[in-house]
Amino acid sequence: MTVWDDLTGQAAAIEVFRAAAESSAAPTTSAVPAATGDAGQVAAAPDSMTHSWLITGPPGSGRSNLAYAFASALLCRDGGCGHCADCRQVAARTHPDLAILATDRVVITIDEVRRLVSASQFSPSVARYRVVVIEDADRMAERTSNVLLKALEEPPERTVWILCAPSEADLLPTIRSRVRSVRLRVPSTSDVAALLVKRDGVDAETAERAARESQSHIGMAHRLATNDEARARRADTIELALSVTTVGDAVRGAATLLEIAGADAQAITEERDAEERAAALRSLGVEPGQAIPPALRSQIKALEDDQKRRATRSLRDGIDRILTDLLSLYRDIVLLQLGARVELVNEAISAEVRRRAEDNDSSSTLAAMDAIADARRRIAANVAPALALEAMLITLAEAGRSASRKVAP
Ligand SMILES: [Zn+2]
Repeated sequence: MTVWDDLTGQAAAIEVFRAAAESSAAPTTSAVPAATGDAGQVAAAPDSMTHSWLITGPPGSGRSNLAYAFASALLCRDGGCGHCADCRQVAARTHPDLAILATDRVVITIDEVRRLVSASQFSPSVARYRVVVIEDADRMAERTSNVLLKALEEPPERTVWILCAPSEADLLPTIRSRVRSVRLRVPSTSDVAALLVKRDGVDAETAERAARESQSHIGMAHRLATNDEARARRADTIELALSVTTVGDAVRGAATLLEIAGADAQAITEERDAEERAAALRSLGVEPGQAIPPALRSQIKALEDDQKRRATRSLRDGIDRILTDLLSLYRDIVLLQLGARVELVNEAISAEVRRRAEDNDSSSTLAAMDAIADARRRIAANVAPALALEAMLITLAEAGRSASRKVAP
């Protein structure tokens, strides 16, 4: 069981990183694996090590998982064995030669990057490398990017930067030109389902449904497959959209959607905090249920403070997930209306989706999709979420009314 085993659907990208880690471990060996070539824009000599990497791919494709697997491969004496102290510390994000910038806030501040850059100047304390991971490198303003740029231009010999972003276009050209870029693909539904079966012991049918409904977002698929409440919240969201027909429905519906988003955000935050805390305690050698020794309390306190700071972005994320689910519903409907033969995201309620597709015309479905996109844009621009969701639901209600008109003219 190595650090690469839990990554799904990214064989080509894994090969690039594995080869780089191996070549860096044994620079004189000739037994380096052949180049794979199709994992994005990899410069010449893809098996060789370089100081700055960029991993791009849509949310949920496993960008940060791959970044930490690569970090393990560089910090572990055994190329990322998955069970030594180094690998466990990377998994718990507590390795002394690993620096991380992971933020749930909307932007990365210039001070955060300055701190990271100065940490990157030190030699590694125990491993071959010092590894610095920036999980959302796209959330940097230009001024902040320029601080990072200086560090990428003159990297200390044993420092490796791993940046993650949705796409290369999210970074300044000056940054892009200094990193080796590896693009991930969206894993297929069956890749994600297979992972849930193998890694989490989920039954095949539940795994398949969760993979479909999450649209191959690995983290979301895991939640839908293993958490009844998360599944119920998704079902409630879709049900609500299908049942609004009046302005009154829309106003009440917006309040309900906000409650669902809040509950979802809170549940995710709690799960994540508990998992991080457990991982941190494990890496510090504290058994579950055992009291935290006084010498370690300040470390746990620092983690908890960090978790409190991050909580602020999660309601917006919760709303965003709802909008993604709603969009998947109207996407299914419009594809049926256009006669496309594709797998439905919402296959589990296909009878309802098909009925709606028949009772309605594609123009009102497209209007509904536009309304969802508008709501997302307006919330990103700081419009009060309740107002943006109300306006969206009024358009969805119109689509619902035109459906019932068509049934009984
Ligand atoms: Zn290891």
